[in-house]
Amino acid sequence: MSRGLRNPVQACIGLGSNLNDPQQQVMTAIERLDALPGCKVLRRSSLYRSAPFGPVKQDDFINAVVVLETTVPADSLLARLKEMERIQGRVLRAERWGPRVLDLDILLYGSETIDLPGLTIPHPGIASRNFVLLPLREIAPELVIPGLGALAELAVNEQLPAIQRISDAYP
Ligand code: ADP
Ligand code: MG
Repeated sequence: MSRGLRNPVQACIGLGSNLNDPQQQVMTAIERLDALPGCKVLRRSSLYRSAPFGPVKQDDFINAVVVLETTVPADSLLARLKEMERIQGRVLRAERWGPRVLDLDILLYGSETIDLPGLTIPHPGIASRNFVLLPLREIAPELVIPGLGALAELAVNEQLPAIQRISDAYP
């Protein structure tokens, strides 16, 4: 096999934004993910609206999840995502849990478990974030998450802020 060429993996990417026309930010990011070399968006969830959590007063978030077929290794993919966040205007070192133009997380990378200083997969927030669980269930209900089990069995957390599916959100 030639170096650098890999079999495609299905990665799940979580998107979130609550600044500068969040709905547009998320839709633009989905188009850019699809345009990344070696990447193709296979499925995308509806857009969801979720109340922010944490101590900072800020606008609601728009969230979505996509299934990305990719030949890009996980660490390089994270670098691409951080670049996209930067291009779409995210202010680095912004407050933890504070407002952001774009947050891109690798939720899953095939069935791999990765534990590097700057990269944890599966993303540790999956089970505790309704804005990840619900869109993920919408597009990949059959998923089994390494270390957590079947996605369908993971309970939606009633204590966390409600999230709302925005229908007909895509043009
Ligand atoms: P969060 O997404 O938890 O709100 P940030 O977007 O500020 O927080 O991420 C902080 C750091 O998390 C990033 O610099 C990145 O290196 C690290 N990180 C670890 N695992 C992942 C992952 N699976 N996807 C995205 N970022 C990750
Ligand atoms: Mg992030």
